[in-house]
Amino acid sequence: TEGLAEGAAEFAPRRSVAVVSTTERGSRLDDIDTQGLGASIRRLTPQEAIGGAGDPVPVDTFVVDGTNLSMASAFNTLPELRARAHSRQAAILFIHVPDDPDSAASALDSGASDILASDAMNEELVHRIHARLMRKQEEDALRRSSEHSIKLAVTDPLTGLYNRRYAEAYLQDALSGVGAGASLTTMIVDIDHFKRINDTFGHAAGDSVLREVAKRMKKTLRAIDMVARYGGEEFLVVLPGTELAQAGPAADRLRRTIGGTAIAIDADNSTRVTVSIGVSVVAQDVEVDASTFATSQETSAANDHVARLLQAADKALYLAKETGRNRIKVAETTP
Ligand code: GH3
Ligand code: MG
Ligand code: MG
Repeated sequence: TEGLAEGAAEFAPRRSVAVVSTTERGSRLDDIDTQGLGASIRRLTPQEAIGGAGDPVPVDTFVVDGTNLSMASAFNTLPELRARAHSRQAAILFIHVPDDPDSAASALDSGASDILASDAMNEELVHRIHARLMRKQEEDALRRSSEHSIKLAVTDPLTGLYNRRYAEAYLQDALSGVGAGASLTTMIVDIDHFKRINDTFGHAAGDSVLREVAKRMKKTLRAIDMVARYGGEEFLVVLPGTELAQAGPAADRLRRTIGGTAIAIDADNSTRVTVSIGVSVVAQDVEVDASTFATSQETSAANDHVARLLQAADKALYLAKETGRNRIKVAETTP
């Protein structure tokens, strides 16, 4: 069972505490008895704590020693810790001089999660640190699970791409952001004769083809482009800042990357998969002022705009299918 214990330890990483004090003076926190806290304890100067410099282990709880630091340094450190990305989520326990309610209150105002007078017993201090660590652990778990739910809500489980719901919301936001000088290209990418793949190799093979097509699309597109699985074997791509002159070449690059090399089905079989693409571009001279979408009536105007853009791309896709598949068509009018 030793192996099991080690496995469990991986999921409950050692908690990390940093005592923030200067090295010029000793800190009474240097000799606190931290037995049983189950955490590693380091000493950091305020500069090191704020900088998060070369920090291999993120700190869960900062204990800022207000009896060791100058007032200025202590009250500078608290808001900085609260503001910086590496320490924003950490708990901050501020140790204040006894009988100084003002500095205690300012510490809370400046970002401390909790305060404790420096004449408190060692056990009290350890208890407070422990409570903060436990709470931080719960907060971390909650944050992870809500990030996980958000990811589930916007992701297509088969391909890992964004789902249709996300794509439509994204497009609506992107269109309200299109102002003078910016263009936006939308593509609907549809796999040609996909039904044949299912019929020939089975549904599971069809699924793996969908995953590979998704992978090839992601590889070809830029990080700022949005790719979603829009329907069964249909994908929606949005290229921000891409105008008519670049839209065709971008779509054709995508078409060639997907259809250029065969996709492996199993050890013995592979198949070439082609796509047809309908492209629609919102041109730079069409000004859509974000502020006009402030009311619900005008949100529906943005909705209409999304619908028209998708209709135009869909019509172009239909033409690409009709004229032989494995090709792109760009909508001639801007919606
Ligand atoms: P076209 O070239 O005209 O687009 O022909 P097509 O066969 O690709 O189009 P059609 O719309 O006739 O068929 C799409 C097929 O995609 C039918 C459906 O069973 C299949 N499909 C939809 N979603 C999935 C999926 O998640 N997995 C698998 N394996 N097949 C799917
Ligand atoms: Mg199809
Ligand atoms: Mg289709």
